[in-house]
Amino acid sequence: MRTPIVAGNWKLNGTRESAVKLATEVVAGATDAAVEVIVCPVYVHLAEVQQMLQEGQVKLGAQDAAAQESGAFTGEVSAPMLAEYGCGYVILGHSERRSLFGDSDEVVVEKFLAVQKAGLTPILCVGEQLDERESGVTEAVVGRQLGALLERAGADVLENAVVAYEPVWAIGTGKTATPQQAQDVHAFIRQKVGEHNADVAAGLRILYGGSVKPGNAAELFGMTDIDGGLIGGAALDSQDFLAICQAASGT
Ligand code: PEP
Repeated sequence: MRTPIVAGNWKLNGTRESAVKLATEVVAGATDAAVEVIVCPVYVHLAEVQQMLQEGQVKLGAQDAAAQESGAFTGEVSAPMLAEYGCGYVILGHSERRSLFGDSDEVVVEKFLAVQKAGLTPILCVGEQLDERESGVTEAVVGRQLGALLERAGADVLENAVVAYEPVWAIGTGKTATPQQAQDVHAFIRQKVGEHNADVAAGLRILYGGSVKPGNAAELFGMTDIDGGLIGGAALDSQDFLAICQAASGT
C-alpha cells in the first residue's frame, strides 16, 4: 500500500504575507493522515512557511536545489541549507528548470544525489513535450530522463524518492492527460524501475502533474499506478488544493 502524496508547487508566486496565509489555510484543512501533503514555496518564504507548518502534518519542500554543497556558486541554494529550514522534499528536473534554465538529465541526477546526501527526498520530474508525444516518443523521452538516474546510481536510490510524471504540454495549459494516458506512462515508469529492482518499483510513489484540478483529480488518482499529484496553479488556492488532497485520500 503506497500512501498518496499531493505536493503543491507554488512556483514564483506570492508575497511573504500571501505565502503565510496560504500555508496557514492548508495546514488547517489538511488533517487527513491518509494523504501526505507537501507545500513548496520559493526559497525566501521557506522560513516563515516552516513556522506555519509546526503544528500540523503538512510537510515542507523546495522547488530546486544546487548540485553543489557550498562554494563559488552565486545565486544557488544547497540541499544542506534546505534541510536546515526543515525541508523534507525537493522538486528536481521540473520542466521549467529543464527548458528555461538548462537543467540537463545529468545535472538533474547530480542534484538528485546531492539532495539525498543531505537526507532529503527528491521529487524527480519527468515528462515529454507536445511534439514528442505527437511523434510517438513519449516512452523514449521519459525512459531517457529516468535512465540517466538508473544508469548512474541504480534503482535503489528510488527507495527514498518520488517520481512525478508531468507531460509538459499539460503544465499550466488547462490541458490534462486523460487518466489512461497518464496511467500508461506511470505503468511504464514502474516497469522500467522494476527491471532493476521489483521491490523498489512496487513501493515507488509516482505522481501525476499537469493541470490537475478538483474536478479531474479523483479520476486521475483512481488509476492503478497514480499515487497522487504535483499541483501548480490549483495549489495557489487553498480550497482547490485541499479538495485535490481530499480526492487523493483512500486511493
Ligand atoms: C507544475 O507546475 O508542476 C504543474 C503541474 O502546474 P499546473 O498544475 O498548473 O499544470
